[in-house]
Amino acid sequence: MKCKVCFRNCDLDEGQIGFCKGRINENGLIKARNYGKISSAALDPIEKKPLVDFYPGSMILSVGSYGCSLRCPFCQNHEISQVDLDASCEEVTPHQLASKAQELVEYGNIGVAFTYNEPMVGYEFIRDTAKLVHEKGLKTVVVTSGHASVETLEEILPYVDAFNIDLKGFTPESYQYVGGDLEMTKSFIKRAAQDAHVEVTTLVVPGKNDSIEEMEAMASWLATISPGIVLHLSRYFPRYHESMPPTPLETLKTLQQTAQKHLHRVVLGNV
Ligand code: SF4
Repeated sequence: MKCKVCFRNCDLDEGQIGFCKGRINENGLIKARNYGKISSAALDPIEKKPLVDFYPGSMILSVGSYGCSLRCPFCQNHEISQVDLDASCEEVTPHQLASKAQELVEYGNIGVAFTYNEPMVGYEFIRDTAKLVHEKGLKTVVVTSGHASVETLEEILPYVDAFNIDLKGFTPESYQYVGGDLEMTKSFIKRAAQDAHVEVTTLVVPGKNDSIEEMEAMASWLATISPGIVLHLSRYFPRYHESMPPTPLETLKTLQQTAQKHLHRVVLGNV
């Protein structure tokens, strides 16, 4: 059976686990094996997602599971995204998580953010939890690389208020570097922005996705969706398998000026 969630379309025999480690063929059905399995949770400022134009100054209960469909050499969360943590996660139900979010309202919480690993590999848990979060009058946020089919996105879109979506570059080579698919990401951003608040993040890696031409192409494409989309340009630091020096600040500022020709708001991060 083929998993239809992301571009990899893993062909899974009975009991086999997908490339992302988050999905499995169980009894002839491909499903999230990380459903309700929480590896990390924190009450974070919304700006940390990063979202700067969605309930600024508020807090959000942020949860992560395990698994990811990409292999970014610089992953900052590789301890949970690239490792099978099935046995060590805490298990919660959608009801428990939605109730926890409500309990935290007195601390400034506005809802639940699905983040840290790639949440879309376990989209069923987002869908089931986000419905309940909405019933309580709270908000849901998804922080994702946008590597999921539009059909999968449609499953959660009615219950998601805001996304931060990674755009890891704007050339096939930039996406080859992280083991991803540019076209799938573009379709995801386009559809999500029709119904939800969307901000986009690009981690600028020296020599990989830092040319002015690439930024020009990326920002002008984003502007065709809306010039009001906030673009976060984030500074790379050596992590995981990538050891080259951090992105020079000058590079970030030059790319910010390039993007600002097309977009109203371009924010530098990790600086
Ligand atoms: S979501 Fe996981 S199992 Fe499904 S196609 Fe992508 S990598 Fe494979």
